[in-house]
Amino acid sequence: MISRLEGIGMTSRRTRERMIKRLQELGIQNQAVLDAMLNTPRHIFVEDAFASRAYEDTALPIGFNQTISQPYIVARMTELLLERGPLKKVLEIGTGSGYQTAILAQLVKLVYTVERVYPLQQRTRRRLQAIKLRNVRYKHSDGVLGWQEYAPYDGILVTAAPAEMPQALLEQMARGGVMVIPVGDNGQQALQRVTRIDPGYEAEIVEPVVFVPLLSGIV
Ligand code: SAH
Repeated sequence: MISRLEGIGMTSRRTRERMIKRLQELGIQNQAVLDAMLNTPRHIFVEDAFASRAYEDTALPIGFNQTISQPYIVARMTELLLERGPLKKVLEIGTGSGYQTAILAQLVKLVYTVERVYPLQQRTRRRLQAIKLRNVRYKHSDGVLGWQEYAPYDGILVTAAPAEMPQALLEQMARGGVMVIPVGDNGQQALQRVTRIDPGYEAEIVEPVVFVPLLSGIV
């Protein structure tokens, strides 16, 4: 695959190759997902003080009490989302650092991403523009409401955990659409994959996970 991000962050390519090998050992198989992660400079998505640790398989602080998701979970969620075929329109809840957004933007046609913390959203928008990812639309809003204006979405990916499945997100899924979402409170969260079938929904529990909570309201 020719990367849309070719030429940037090449200094860390070898470090990223090691990260990819580790992801494969953990069971990630989707080559397009692995390629996107190989080509994306994760170090520009974390604070400078943590840049040297950007390719460890760990979550790291991004300010505002939030964290960039660990590479394994980004890979796993993206793989689950895309497993049944390519997607055109994907809604992401919890833009955060934009790392997951950048991976998605290389694999689908258009990404709609919603973030509740305004300064975080602004910083991420500049960052993704700087690396020339143009197929991303941003909204500062409470993601529990989804983004009705562009619904339905054939994929929805949620990167903060609600205690219960948000009704608006279920409603904004296209028929046959897929949502990957961590659900539960701090003690116990499970990654779920929901498919909209006609009529109703089908949910699979994938694995236990630890995410920051989906908070209500905007700041
Ligand atoms: N995918 C991001 C994950 C960041 S952590 C990354 O890898 O960097 C979760 C993000 O969800 C945070 O940025 C947090 O501010 C945001 N968030 C939490 N509750 C939200 C809500 N109700 N609506 C939108 N974003 C929310």
